[in-house]
Amino acid sequence: MESHIFFVARKCHSACYNKMVEGWKKSLSECITKPHQLLEKFSVDIKALDSVVAKYPMKVSRYYFNLIEEVDDPIWKQCIPSLLELQDPYGTEDPLNEEGDSPTTGLVHRYPDRVLMCVSNSCAMYCRFCTRKRRVGLPLINLSTEVLLEQIRYVQRTPAIRDVLLSGGDPLLLSDNTIEFLLKSLRAIPHVEILRIGTRVPCTFPERITPKLCNILKKYHPLYVNVHFNHPKEITEESSRACGLLADAGIPLGNQSVLLKGVNDDSETMKSLVQKLLKIRVKPYYLFQMDLVKGTYHFRTRVETGLKIIEDLTGYTSGFAVPRYVIDAPGGGGKIPLIPRYLVSLEENQVVLKNYEGKQFTYPQIPKEKQVLSPMEVPVKVP
Ligand SMILES: *Cc1c(COP(=O)(O)O)cnc(C)c1O
Ligand code: SF4
Repeated sequence: MESHIFFVARKCHSACYNKMVEGWKKSLSECITKPHQLLEKFSVDIKALDSVVAKYPMKVSRYYFNLIEEVDDPIWKQCIPSLLELQDPYGTEDPLNEEGDSPTTGLVHRYPDRVLMCVSNSCAMYCRFCTRKRRVGLPLINLSTEVLLEQIRYVQRTPAIRDVLLSGGDPLLLSDNTIEFLLKSLRAIPHVEILRIGTRVPCTFPERITPKLCNILKKYHPLYVNVHFNHPKEITEESSRACGLLADAGIPLGNQSVLLKGVNDDSETMKSLVQKLLKIRVKPYYLFQMDLVKGTYHFRTRVETGLKIIEDLTGYTSGFAVPRYVIDAPGGGGKIPLIPRYLVSLEENQVVLKNYEGKQFTYPQIPKEKQVLSPMEVPVKVP
């Protein structure tokens, strides 16, 4: 198995490989990475942007760039560098202390039964609000074959792990062969029950989702994919096709959004997003409050904004359209759900509740244990 991945790595560098490069790889090489390329479509002042890009790289797939309708619209804000990134008075490079919970390079083991494996440093687009801004696009951590094998060995020798989440960067920017190698190695570990992939590719670079890739993925069920859409304009014919191919391969799809000021921080936008997601067979999973990442202050909303959005969705649209709003606790406490107040009071004999319209209801409680015999305590006649 080890020799297999070395073979893959060598193949990527060999001259003959170019002849069989798949379409998506060619498209990826045509991404926008320099501020002056913005001038192809927009007349904006790009003078100062080179200094931003020197610190935080820029990359936008042609597909995503073409979704921009005007300067500073919700698509632009997510992908085009801003001077505000260099003026952030708050924030730190690694607010979730991921490096602190990392027993081996790139692997984060924070919860009892699951791990997050960073298997790629690159993405089809570098989102300006990214939590791993410190790292994506920069070769600070070398995710070499040896590093990936060490992550797999950690999972092998840790029987408590039943759920492995491949993340990055974007795992689906790896070659089909490497993706298959990772899935196959992990699937061969008896205690690993489910595999998950977190990817933004269906949204930012849908052509990467090919029938060939789906044929590989579906061999390693149960496999879940979490995608990342933030705005209804991202749901296009192409991204719908990409999600459809994954869903047709039997993969349950969830969505993780980030609550972003000026992008999706109002109830109407969010309602439209979650309803459109369900139409392309994606179930909203998480809505993240912004992490305290250096260079992203201008995207941060207040928590009241997120709670209001959840209140405006709950009861007003399909229950399973409503994502769970969470804060990933600063310092590494994990994800903590934020739930609007529907429980008015919890008393000895009753619970007082508020429904989505604000009307109050009571629900009577059964008496506390001890007063009632549980089946175990009921005396059994011994014959
Ligand atoms: C988000 C995350 C997971 C997965 O969490 P779920 O709530 O199960 O989706 C696992 N490990 C780390 C480090 C994470 O940040
Ligand atoms: S695709 Fe994900 S990991 Fe990559 S830059 Fe965007 S948010 Fe960050």
